[in-house]
Amino acid sequence: MNESCNDKHFSLCNILQKAEQEHKLSKNEIVELLKSDGGLLYKSADRTRKQYKDDFVHLRGLIEFSNICRCNCFYCGLRAENSLIDRYRLTENEILDCANIAIDAGYKTIVLQSGEDMFWDSNKICSLIKKIKQKDVAITLSIGERSYEEYKKFKDIGADRFLLRIETTDKNLYKQLHPNMSFENRVQCLWNLKKLGYETGTGCLVGLPNQTIESLANDILFFKELDADMVGIGPLIPHPNTPLKDANKDNFDMALKVMATVRILMPDINIPATTAMESIRENGRIIALNSGANVVMPNFTESEYRKKYEIYPNKICINDSPKKCMNCIKLKIESIGRKISETKGYRKES
Ligand code: SF4
Repeated sequence: MNESCNDKHFSLCNILQKAEQEHKLSKNEIVELLKSDGGLLYKSADRTRKQYKDDFVHLRGLIEFSNICRCNCFYCGLRAENSLIDRYRLTENEILDCANIAIDAGYKTIVLQSGEDMFWDSNKICSLIKKIKQKDVAITLSIGERSYEEYKKFKDIGADRFLLRIETTDKNLYKQLHPNMSFENRVQCLWNLKKLGYETGTGCLVGLPNQTIESLANDILFFKELDADMVGIGPLIPHPNTPLKDANKDNFDMALKVMATVRILMPDINIPATTAMESIRENGRIIALNSGANVVMPNFTESEYRKKYEIYPNKICINDSPKKCMNCIKLKIESIGRKISETKGYRKES
C-alpha cells in the first residue's frame, strides 16, 4: 500500500493498487478515480509511465498543412461554417520544407495534420508520404475520415501511424456535435486503421456540454477495447466562433484525470502532453508529463500559418518560429529530469 494511503483514501488506494497491478478496472472504479481530487491518481500514473516507458519523451514534429475542412464539428474553429477564419493550404514543397527542418533537427516522426480537406486526395497524400519517407522517419497522418482503400494506400506507401479521435463515445452527444457525420463510420474507421496495421491513435474531448463522468469512463473503456496505440486527451477550450462558445472553460483537471487513468490502464501506449493543456494552464504540458504523458508534439508549421490553425482560441506559441519552440520544449523536458528519445518511438520498440 502506498504511504500516502490513509482511512480517507482507503477505497481509492485499493482501486489504484488494482489498476497498477492488473491494468483493468470496472466502469464504476474508473468513475471513482475521475471523481477523486487527482493527487494519488497522478502519482500512480507517473509511476506506471516510468515503469513502462522510462524517462524518455518522444518528440513528434507537427505540420498543420491545411485548415480547410468540410465538417462542422460544434467545438472546432476550423468548422466549414466559420466564415471568420482565414483559410490556407500549404503546397507540397512548403510541407516538405517544414518536414526537413524537423528532420534536420533530429526528429524521428513527422505528423501531417489537416482539416478534412478533400483537395488532398489519396494520390497527393501518397506523393507526400513517399517523399518524406525517403528520409528515415516515421509518418503519422491526422487527416480525418477516409475510405478503407485510401487508408490502405497510405499504409502501403509507408505511413506508420494515424490519429483519429473519437471525441466522445456517447452516441447521442456525438450526433449533436457532429452534423452530417456518422458515429458508426468513425468507429469503423478506427477498426479499419487497426486492421491495416497502423499504430492507431484516438482520444476524446473533456468538458463537452452534457458529457458525464460515466461517459468519460466509457471513452476510456473504448480506448482499451480498441487497444489504441496512442491516446490524446484534450480539454475543451470554447472557441468564440462556434456553437459551443459559451461552454464551460474549466476542463484542465478532468482532462488530466482522464489522461492519468488511461496511462494506468494502458501502460505501454504513447500519450501526448497536448498543446491544448498548456494553452489553458501554465506549464500544462509539464504537468501532463508528470502525470503519465510521454510524448510532445512541437509545431513545425511556419508562424504565418500556425496562427490560422485555430481549432481553439489562445493557442500557445502561435508567433514563435519552429526553432524557438523546439529549443523551449527541450529545455522544459530536461528541467524535470526527462530525456529526449532518439528513436522513432513506436509503442512496442524492438
Ligand atoms: S474537428 Fe477536425 S473534422 Fe471537425 S471541423 Fe475541426 S478540423 Fe474539421
